[in-house]
Amino acid sequence: MIEHHRSRMRAGRRVLHHGAAPRLSILVVLLSLLVPLGPSAQAAVPSIILIVIDTLRADHLGTYGHHRPTSPALDRRAAQGAVFERAFASSGWTAPSFGSILTGTIAARHGQGARTAEGDDARHRAPLGKELPTLAEQFAARGYRTAAFVTNPFLDRSLGAGRGFEFYLCAPADNDRYRRADLGVSLAAEWLERHRDEPTFLLLHFFDPHLDYDPAPEVRGRFTDPLARDAGRTLPVEGVQAIRDDRTLSLAAREFITAAYDEEILAVDAALDSFFARLEELGLKERSVILLTADHGEELFDHGGFEHGHSLQQEILHVPFVLWGPGVVPARHTEPVSLVDVFPTLLEAAGVPATPPVARNLDGLSLWPLVVGRTTRLEGPASSAPREIVVSSTLQGEEQSALVVWPHKLIRTESGSSRLYQLDEDPRERQDLSAADPRRVSALARRLSHRLAVADSLRRRVSSVPIDPELHERLRSLGYTR
Ligand SMILES: [Zn+2]
Repeated sequence: MIEHHRSRMRAGRRVLHHGAAPRLSILVVLLSLLVPLGPSAQAAVPSIILIVIDTLRADHLGTYGHHRPTSPALDRRAAQGAVFERAFASSGWTAPSFGSILTGTIAARHGQGARTAEGDDARHRAPLGKELPTLAEQFAARGYRTAAFVTNPFLDRSLGAGRGFEFYLCAPADNDRYRRADLGVSLAAEWLERHRDEPTFLLLHFFDPHLDYDPAPEVRGRFTDPLARDAGRTLPVEGVQAIRDDRTLSLAAREFITAAYDEEILAVDAALDSFFARLEELGLKERSVILLTADHGEELFDHGGFEHGHSLQQEILHVPFVLWGPGVVPARHTEPVSLVDVFPTLLEAAGVPATPPVARNLDGLSLWPLVVGRTTRLEGPASSAPREIVVSSTLQGEEQSALVVWPHKLIRTESGSSRLYQLDEDPRERQDLSAADPRRVSALARRLSHRLAVADSLRRRVSSVPIDPELHERLRSLGYTR
C-alpha cells in the first residue's frame, strides 16, 4: 500500500514539474495524501491467494507428470504460471509444515507441532509460539484484509495457526464432516466478494485428499470403478492403521486405494475450477496472485508404508508449488525451494516485502524475482553456497529430520541411522547410498545438526495447550491419537 502510494506521489510531482504552479503542486501532493485510493488505483493492488491442499503429493498432478487426469483445471493454470519442480515440504505432517508457511522459518525454529514435556501424542504437541511474526500479521499491518478458511483439526485457532487473521474459519474435518472442497470455495468466494475493492490476503485450505478417501459423488468411481473387481474393495477407503498393518494387501488393492486418492484430487481440482471462474466474475482474476502448494504428500506404499506423518521420503516431501497471476512469467523452475519461501515470496508479490528485521529472521527466500523473470537464479544471504533445505518433525515413531543440498538428500533418525539419496538420478529414492558414500553422509549430517541446533536454541519453549474434547475426538477419528 505504502509503496503504491509513494509511486503515485512521485508520478504526481513529475507531471507538476512540467509547468504547473508550485502552489498547485503542494495542493495536489497534500490531496494525494488525504484522498483514499479510489477503485482505479486499487486495481493495481494485488489480491494474494494462498491455496494449500492437504496431503497432496506433487507427482499425482498432471503438471508434475501423473498418468491419470487428476488435475485438468490446475494444469491449465500451471501452463500459464511458474511451476517449481523441486519443492519440499518442511515436515512430514500438517502442524509443522503450516508453521513454516505462516512464519517463513523451519520447523525446529517455530516449534508448531513439536513434541512437548507432556508427551509425543498428537494432542500434546506444541502450538505455534507467539514470538515470530506471521504472514497474516504482516499483511494486516499493511492494510490488507485477511481471511483463512481451513479444515484440519491441527489448524484449530487454539493451536496458533490463526494468529493475525482478521477472519479465521477452521471447520475441523473428521471423516464425516467438512471435507468437501466446494464448501470452502463458496465461503471464500463470498468473503472475497465482500472485500473485492480492498487489498486482500486469503488462505484457502482443502482436506479432500486426506484419508478417509471418500470421493464426492461427481468424481466417485472415475478411477476406482475399473479396479474394484480385482481389488475386491469398495469406497470409501478407511482406517490408516488397518491398511498399514495389513501385510497381505494385494497389489490390486493398493492400486484401488491409490485410485481413490486420485479421485479426491480430482474433486479439489473441480472445486478450484469453479473458484477460479468466480474470481473472473468478480473482476479479481487480473489482480490475483495465486500460489498453490501442499503441506506434505502421501505415501501410497512407495517405501512399504501408507499415509503420512511417519516418514520424510519424497512421496511425503515433494509438494506442488505453482504461482500464477499478473507479472508471473510462464516457466518451469528447477531451483530447490521450500514451504519457508511462501512467506517472503507472497509479501514481495504484493509489493510489500518483509522489513529488514523480519527478513533477517526468515529461513525462506523470496522467489518473486525469479517468478517475474527479474533474475535467473535464487539469491540468498549466502548465495555463493548451495542452498540447504532443512526438514524436520514426524508425527509417528522415531523423530526424523532431513537435509537437501541438491541433488543429495540425507534423512536422519533420532537414533542416528542415515539414508542418502541422489534425487536427480533417483527421484523415487530406490537406492540408499549411505553405505557407499559415508563421507557425504557425515558432512551432510554435520550441517543438518548445526542448522537444527541453531534453530532450536532460538526457539522459545511452549507447553501444549489443552485440547477440547470435540477436537480430540476428531483427531482420534483421523487416527492421530488414541
Ligand atoms: Zn496435512
